Amino acid sequence: MHAPAAQTPPERTLIRNIGLLLSGDLSQPLLDADAILVENGVIAAIGAARELADAGPAGVIDANSSAVMPGLIDSHVHPVFGDWTPRQNQLGWIDSFLNGGVTTMISAGEVHLPGRPKDIVGLKALAITAQRAFSNFRPGGVKLHAGAPILEQGMTEQDFADLAEAGVTLIGEVGLGTVRAGEEAQRMVGWARKHGMQSTIHTGGPSVPGSSYIDKDVVLEADPDIIGHINGGHTALPVDQIRCLCEGCQRGIEIVHNGNERAGLFAARAAYELGQPERIILGTDSPAGSGVQPLGILRVMALLAGVGELPPEHVVCFATGNTARMRGLDSGLIEVGRPADLLFAAEPQHSAGGDILQALAMGDLPGVGMVMIDGIIRCHRSRHTPPTSRLPEVVAP
Ligand SMILES: [Zn+2]
Repeated sequence: MHAPAAQTPPERTLIRNIGLLLSGDLSQPLLDADAILVENGVIAAIGAARELADAGPAGVIDANSSAVMPGLIDSHVHPVFGDWTPRQNQLGWIDSFLNGGVTTMISAGEVHLPGRPKDIVGLKALAITAQRAFSNFRPGGVKLHAGAPILEQGMTEQDFADLAEAGVTLIGEVGLGTVRAGEEAQRMVGWARKHGMQSTIHTGGPSVPGSSYIDKDVVLEADPDIIGHINGGHTALPVDQIRCLCEGCQRGIEIVHNGNERAGLFAARAAYELGQPERIILGTDSPAGSGVQPLGILRVMALLAGVGELPPEHVVCFATGNTARMRGLDSGLIEVGRPADLLFAAEPQHSAGGDILQALAMGDLPGVGMVMIDGIIRCHRSRHTPPTSRLPEVVAP
């Protein structure tokens, strides 16, 4: 089912005939170029095909006028081990997300592990094990940043120092463990930040029995790096609280597929009203109660562009460059020196939109034609999206 993770990328690949180059950068979402040169898995040059062809012998991919953008980043998933989720008892779910254009995922906690340890030494051991396991194994080639411990009462600063020392860089959703109060959460989030770990929080009503309600006061006091699923998971806070969260801090505004769509649209518009669309990032929160959504990120993009009427070229940035910047990742942008994590996509066949941006603006899902991670083609025509009307082709291996 999976390509081996340790594959070596080709020395040089020229991608030509790009119809639309979407940078992932909100300050300049469209680039004036029709070709990318990839060397040893990294974007080496961006420009006109006739110029880049002089670099020397290369494999050639003809994009056939499809759009190329950074691979999508899912800011909120709950992996367990390998490519298996016990929550939905499903195998191969991460490989399915690859077919939805996702090249990077960030764990918000390995909470679905049956028998998950909640004692402090146990939760630390699980986080370190998950971090190691997903560093060593990329399902389908997808980069999964995992090892996100759930905060429990009794943790000390030394526990955070130990986790950081062991390579753990994330904190799972605050509120899924026994730490739910603002002051206590704030202290631990502060320790995490001091030791270089990123934090997120569960916002809104309980997602499943056993989960908790977290309101705006707790979120603002805890002050995590990301306002995790600001649109609820699925039960959302009232919109006046969502507005307070957007206005009351500068942290990431995460909108998820498993959340309340109406609240998601409200949060995105609030960010625009504040003049801060760079804070919007996207996730799925799968596989939570609503399930695995291989096309979840594409669906949130189509929701925000189609129903929310936000600029479709911005919506691409929410799923790529914004998330990479707020999460400290090196991917998420079409820029020289970045990893060649590339999504080739176009309007689906028979879409009323003439290109991918028009299709998104009409609420259609793009058709994925190819996905590359670190310069290696991991997926050709998606088995999940509607068929793309512009299929890329490898013309020279
Ligand atoms: Zn949650």
